[in-house]
Amino acid sequence: MPTEGAIEGAAPKPSNFIRDIILEDNVSGKYGGRVHTRFPPEPNGYLHIGHAKSICLNFGLAQEFGGKCNLRFDDTNPSKEEVEYVESIIEDVKWLGFDWEDRMFYASDYFDQLYAWAVQLIRQGQAFVCDLTAEQIREYRGTPTEPGKNSPYRDRSVEENLDLFERMRLGEFPDGSRTLRTKIDMASPNFNMRDPVMYRILRAEHHRTGNKWCIYPMYDFAHGECDSIEGITHSICTLEFEDHRPLYDWYVENLGIHHPQQIEFDRLNLTSTMLSKRKLLMLVQKGFVSGWDDPRMPTLSGMRRRGYTPEGIRLFCSRIGVSKTNGIIEFALLENSLREDLNRRALRVMASVDPIRVVIDNYPDGQVEEMDAVNNPEDESAGTRKVPFSKVLYIDRDDFRENPPKQYFRLSPGREVRLRYAYFVTCTGVVKDAAGEVVEVHCTYDPATRGGNTPPDGRKVKSTIHWVSAAHALDAEARLYENLFLEDAGEEKDFTDTLNPKSLEVRTAKVEPSVKGAAPGTLYQFERVGYFCVDKDSTPDKPVFNRTVQLRDTWAKIEKAQKA
Ligand code: ATP
Ligand code: MG
Repeated sequence: MPTEGAIEGAAPKPSNFIRDIILEDNVSGKYGGRVHTRFPPEPNGYLHIGHAKSICLNFGLAQEFGGKCNLRFDDTNPSKEEVEYVESIIEDVKWLGFDWEDRMFYASDYFDQLYAWAVQLIRQGQAFVCDLTAEQIREYRGTPTEPGKNSPYRDRSVEENLDLFERMRLGEFPDGSRTLRTKIDMASPNFNMRDPVMYRILRAEHHRTGNKWCIYPMYDFAHGECDSIEGITHSICTLEFEDHRPLYDWYVENLGIHHPQQIEFDRLNLTSTMLSKRKLLMLVQKGFVSGWDDPRMPTLSGMRRRGYTPEGIRLFCSRIGVSKTNGIIEFALLENSLREDLNRRALRVMASVDPIRVVIDNYPDGQVEEMDAVNNPEDESAGTRKVPFSKVLYIDRDDFRENPPKQYFRLSPGREVRLRYAYFVTCTGVVKDAAGEVVEVHCTYDPATRGGNTPPDGRKVKSTIHWVSAAHALDAEARLYENLFLEDAGEEKDFTDTLNPKSLEVRTAKVEPSVKGAAPGTLYQFERVGYFCVDKDSTPDKPVFNRTVQLRDTWAKIEKAQKA
């Protein structure tokens, strides 16, 4: 697997076959050394991590070769909500760190030109108006083993076709009653070449062209020509369009216009993750999630809210590379890329999402000491802060065991551990509730270990744990996430059957006071627990944290191995 030494660019890029094609084209002078790509979303949903792969690829290759990358909305299919989607897409691509400069386009900008080209194909005897219904067109299309049948309208004269197509545009015919079709070959082994539909009649208001049109071009007719108009050199798309390439080539060749080279790559699939806008929309509409930006969603807006960084996502995209076969990538690879970035930038704080009370019996009542704590060991410039220490603390429930298993070195009766930045403490006893559960741990501290330093007698401890002062801690809401899906839902079954009932767990956390008032989006590492991001639902009194990603928990691994 290729590695990238630094997140920001300096290291050589991993090789990929698309880069090799561009390099060859630059040597042969196919496009005069020009590299011009585009990212062409359909504004019918929010962008997800799969789109990030395409964005990084298109904008990344343009950057690398000193070329350009356009943002183009493929809005050939009119629908109501498009404006919201357009805005979210603009925000997400910018957030990922890419810039289309003044090149933001819409396929609908080209409707007049596309219409003129349709007329040109009619004039050339290569397109005809067909009166078959959608169902009949399907019947006539044939099967993979049998050729299709010519439409009975295929031999209309150029004059009649021109007249009918004009009248389609003028709104003389009902929706769905006629189409404009390309005259190619009903016997072609490639279904896409069996007289594909170019235009359909559809009375729908378009978010940009309003009611100007009642005929709309099909995606397959529009896409290649839009690329051509924009002078795209390398039209990079996902593998399912491989069979469409001969048709796109046919159109630009027969129209005699600039011919972009289409190159297909593998779609991103991630374990336990749904990457289909249609299904993600259903999750939003049916209320399985709180919205497109629910932190469990694989959308860029959900990931942003959860605390994922553009740098971490770009690192992931560069690591997965591109290939010619579809596969599935482990979600853990995305999380690793994120951790690598968060480790560099997240401020450390002490917090517990599963707190248990600790009383230091020999610590003076009412005394408070300010302990010096390091904000980020990876970044000296982040400085230090003061953390209040007092007699009653909270630690993580997981950092105490009444009956410690082998190799468990954290707090347990009789055991001495270091409280990070504070003191060595020794557990002297516990208080239990009626059900026998430990509700309070009692300790003594050694004043000679202030700052967590080794005492004069050189005594060592095997474990350092984090803590928060009970009197100073903020009560925060911690939202702990797991994957939205338990497994990879097959295409056949209802994909909501595999929703993970535990994908969101809400806890009351105790957090050190330094986080008070932090703005939404602020990233923290709760030391030894995980990365957390301040959510927009926070109030001045109650911060809300999204768990971005867990830390690698080495003890959990040991324990699992011991049980096995
Ligand atoms: P979805 O299946 O989520 O609806 P789509 O392909 O219909 O995706 P578009 O808006 O057409 O969505 O996608 C814009 C660009 O992003 C296209 O070039 C498409 O190939 C690419 N893309 C979409 N999904 C993925 C993915 N999972 N991996 C890589 N690229 C993707
Ligand atoms: Mg698409």
